[in-house]
Amino acid sequence: MKIDEERERQKLIAIVEDDPDVARIIGQVLGDFSFRTVWCRNAAELLHRLRSLAPDLCIIDLGLPDMDGIELMQRVRAQSACGILILTGRAYVSDRVMGLELGADDYVLKPFEPRELVARVRSILRRHEPVPDGSVSAQRQIATFSGWRFNTGNNTLHAPNGEKNLLSTSEANLLKVFVNNPNRILQREQLLGTRDLSPTDRSIDVSISRLRRKLEPDAGSQTFIKTVYGAGYLFLASVTWLAADAPPP
Ligand code: CA
Repeated sequence: MKIDEERERQKLIAIVEDDPDVARIIGQVLGDFSFRTVWCRNAAELLHRLRSLAPDLCIIDLGLPDMDGIELMQRVRAQSACGILILTGRAYVSDRVMGLELGADDYVLKPFEPRELVARVRSILRRHEPVPDGSVSAQRQIATFSGWRFNTGNNTLHAPNGEKNLLSTSEANLLKVFVNNPNRILQREQLLGTRDLSPTDRSIDVSISRLRRKLEPDAGSQTFIKTVYGAGYLFLASVTWLAADAPPP
């Protein structure tokens, strides 16, 4: 339980809402439940923030002054795997249905009950929790990203030029968590998975730098594995999964 609470405390939620009173209420109730929040008054502000921040969830008001909330949601979806909760005063069913069809995880109607909002937020975050043990199913065995092919069944990594690497178990476990959770900040504990290591254990950094040496074009570059100071690591890639028997490219 302790670790769950600890993780929840670290979750970052972006509130995209032009009405300062509504934004304050949302910020307060989420703050009471120990979430970190960042307030964006409009769509442009969120898109700007997303360059440096990776929220776990965005609460998006559909009626924004500078862009339709549905369009904003699609833009967020295109660049982030974060959860999306639509908040709307619009009573029209079509908007809600469209929002869900276009990738929102859930919606809440205004005026809302703060506790219900928190319950919805928690439920979305739970669904987005990483699977740390990288459990393999035949339909999702090969992860591909930017020309790379990582076979999670036998821990082999093929570079875009065809060069083959066999990863160590710790490198492979790490890469499994990354490809299962691209474009999200992962805390050290999440990367440690189920192994009984303390969060200050340096072995995670050693595995990260080994993995970087195999993946990154030059020493010191962070094309795929980005360090987010004070928060953890981020795997920047668009990952597509293939079945175990998929033909080579
Ligand atoms: Ca509004």
